[in-house]
Amino acid sequence: MHVPVAIVGAGPSGSLLAWILRQRGIESIVLERQSREYVESRIRAGVMEQNSVDLMIKAGIGERLQKECMYHRGVAIGLYNEHHFLDFDKLIGIGVTVYGQSEVTKDLLGGLAAEGHNVLYEAPVRAIEDIEGDRATVKYTHEGADQELTCDFVIGCDGFHGPSRQAMPASVLKTHEKVYPFGWLGVMVNAPPSKDVALFAHHDRGFALLSMRSPKVSRLYLQCKPDEDLDEWPDERIWDELDTRLGTPGWELERGEIFQKDVTPLRSFFCYPMTHGRLFLCGDAAHIVPPTGAKGLNSAFADVSVLSSGLIQHYTKDDESILRRYGEVALERNIQTQRFSWSNTSKYHIFPDSNAFDRRMQAGEMEYLVTNETAQISYAQQHTGLPFAYWPEL
Ligand SMILES: Cc1cc2nc3c(=O)[nH]c(=O)nc-3n(C[C@H](O)[C@H](O)[C@H](O)COP(=O)(O)OP(=O)(O)OC[C@H]3O[C@@H](n4cnc5c(N)ncnc54)[C@H](O)[C@@H]3O)c2cc1C
Repeated sequence: MHVPVAIVGAGPSGSLLAWILRQRGIESIVLERQSREYVESRIRAGVMEQNSVDLMIKAGIGERLQKECMYHRGVAIGLYNEHHFLDFDKLIGIGVTVYGQSEVTKDLLGGLAAEGHNVLYEAPVRAIEDIEGDRATVKYTHEGADQELTCDFVIGCDGFHGPSRQAMPASVLKTHEKVYPFGWLGVMVNAPPSKDVALFAHHDRGFALLSMRSPKVSRLYLQCKPDEDLDEWPDERIWDELDTRLGTPGWELERGEIFQKDVTPLRSFFCYPMTHGRLFLCGDAAHIVPPTGAKGLNSAFADVSVLSSGLIQHYTKDDESILRRYGEVALERNIQTQRFSWSNTSKYHIFPDSNAFDRRMQAGEMEYLVTNETAQISYAQQHTGLPFAYWPEL
């Protein structure tokens, strides 16, 4: 079998890319290791930049998003147990949108299924070969049998642990990585959010975050050890610690049933080049950020915007100019996103090896942010997201 575009992975980047190409009549196949139910229920990101929202709407898959999302004018910052509201909308005329990643994937995978698109679930890709030749080969397993196909382009949307990045020749691929000495203990809670915007708290005992997935479901996080043992965290201890780090006089954190607990280690990673021959890396396959800046899903969408523009231009106008620039343009934006996520992570968290000087400087930086309007404008611009370099013609 030969297909023009083979997409590895049906997460947000793979499913959005397949959807956009389909709107322009460009044939693709999506190969996904997991079942559809598994992908749709994976709880991860919850904050969308305006450009990500606009891309879904432009691509004709934003109807439910527009109806059910929550728009936040800004964020609150907790410092010395006081809450400071940064009104992004007032500062720069734009806020952020809360809509769960599981809802994004449900919309996209549901849309693809309704149009009968070729998405193979439980079809793990085993190898990607011949990327320097005229046609690339993708080897995968489906319904117990080994299969293979050829394609014009392979798009690696298979996340950090997928096989696409490994298919790049070792002599070509460069990587940069930082593993943080802490993680996030996250809980999903059946309770309305205790604030109308997300609350990011810098506290001597460690970072804490109050965020939300819907008007009835809250998502809360505590900085913890990267290998924290969840057995040591009964619900009562989690609530007490959240109260300590997030609390302020006169305000109470609403408690509710905790229906999921997880620990996420924090890591920054990016690689380049993001393309080699017929292979293009997209989303988490090429870069990972710690969740402090809520940038992972949005960076994946920024890549898709450029890559889909390039593929549409190639197939409809026989012009490869955007496609050839993809790696460079996507990396350039990602470096700025990496910088914001790293600087935010460094600002908010307590590093185990920091001394009194480090901690005072860190607190000083937070004081500057909550009191200086110029610092707030810069923060708002980065938090709400940098522009996408190219938008697909739809
Ligand atoms: C706790 C947490 C909170 C987060 N919060 C935010 C946030 O608020 N905002 C934000 O923007 N981002 C956030 N992120 C990051 C965001 O979830 C990711 O950046 C996003 O999922 C990247 O999408 P992707 O499609 O590139 O990769 P993925 O979502 O990882 O999808 C990759 C897909 O490839 C499949 N795959 C892997 N190997 C193979 C194979 N061999 N064959 C076939 N398929 C394969 C996987 O099963 C998966 O479905 C968060 C992440 C975590 C963990």
